[in-house]
Amino acid sequence: MNEYDSERVAGLLRAQRYELTECADDADLILVNTCAIREKAEDKVFSKLGELGKLKRANPQLVVGVMGCMAQLHQAEIQRRAPQVDLVFGSPAIARVGELVERVRQGGRPVLDTGEGPLVKITTRPPAASRLKAYVTVMEGCEKHCTFCVVPTTRGRERSHPPETILDEVRGLAAEGCREVTLLGQTVNAYGRDLTPRTDLAALMAAIDAVEGIERIRFTTSNPYNLTPRLIAAVRDVPKVCEWFHLPLQSGSDEILARMNRGYTRREYLALIDALRDAVPDISLSTDLIVGFPGETEADFAATLAMVEHVGYDNVFVFRYSPRPGTPAATMPDQISAEVKADRNARLLDLTTRIATARSRRRVDADVGVLVGGTAEKNAGELSGRTRCNRIVNFDGQGMVAIGDLARVRVTEVLPHSLRGVLAATPEEAVCLSR
Ligand code: SAM
Repeated sequence: MNEYDSERVAGLLRAQRYELTECADDADLILVNTCAIREKAEDKVFSKLGELGKLKRANPQLVVGVMGCMAQLHQAEIQRRAPQVDLVFGSPAIARVGELVERVRQGGRPVLDTGEGPLVKITTRPPAASRLKAYVTVMEGCEKHCTFCVVPTTRGRERSHPPETILDEVRGLAAEGCREVTLLGQTVNAYGRDLTPRTDLAALMAAIDAVEGIERIRFTTSNPYNLTPRLIAAVRDVPKVCEWFHLPLQSGSDEILARMNRGYTRREYLALIDALRDAVPDISLSTDLIVGFPGETEADFAATLAMVEHVGYDNVFVFRYSPRPGTPAATMPDQISAEVKADRNARLLDLTTRIATARSRRRVDADVGVLVGGTAEKNAGELSGRTRCNRIVNFDGQGMVAIGDLARVRVTEVLPHSLRGVLAATPEEAVCLSR
């Protein structure tokens, strides 16, 4: 979502005749887009602002701004700890970035804008943005109030963009060559509940499916609490929706889930996994897990390990619990030490890597469709792309396949973070869809 916001800001500033530069020394304006989800992300911002302070001393004309969730949450602290910052604005003010920067330039005084704002759909992107894949925000905010999470404070209430606005954006992207869209929302599967007439993500995806040029539809992040049979059926029935579901579990212990205010038990979560696998037997599953939530005992942690083993995820994101200001969990008793969090983090990662590798191995010798996004990271002679299940595949295109093609590749080898393959049987068959 932050990448998406950064792209919009770069697009809006282009209209004010700003251009992106790779080099901070060349910049007239530097905006740091921030995340407040964990303390580590915030620490990085303050150290970045320290570096930018030096740059600003060398070039007093430079405008330095902080945007995003941390700006929303910590504007006073940013002003105190980083007086070199000229501009602080939250996500609701993104649409007005041009005007805010101009106010700094004219007034020579810090400008703050961290209030509420109307829901605005911004579709501008800089020329450097990927043409092949794009994020599309379908809703803003979150009302789940998980006790560990700061998002409801920083991003406000759930507000969905109307389907027609989203479809216009997707049609525009398709016309520019986009083939894959990822629909974004903090709880993307709550999409449409607040609209009149009410609608849902399943209906939105069916409408996007009809947009010519788009080949793949992804969506993230879903909350188990809002996972409906209609959405599961859409993953099964809407052809362009990829067979990949990211369903954050957070913990395998019912006691911890209750204290997190997640709104489901491990049994209910497993019933959803069963329903997803019944509908789409080959579906790839990924999840988010938090280790070291306040009061997490060794038995609670063992329940998380057991869930991971039971579900068999293809990918897992593990986070050490980070107390966030203003959230109920931050003041819960029995906070867990950094050492215990680090130990649980390492044990969980060991298990998740082992399971994910075993699941990848099952793909050896399978033919997969790969949307070619570019050259391989470590070998410019090879092409690289992703499967519908979001696996990276590197392969030799033999001059037959170009970036933007959807190629048919036979998997030959499983590496920790990617698959290797060869073009499927005959070169004529290899490119199944080409522009
Ligand atoms: N809306 C999603 C949900 O909860 O279903 C979560 C999106 S959040 C941006 C991404 C992940 O960050 C969460 O799923 C959670 O695992 C992690 N996270 C959020 N707050 C955290 C905290 N205080 N400490 C550690 N990890 C956290």
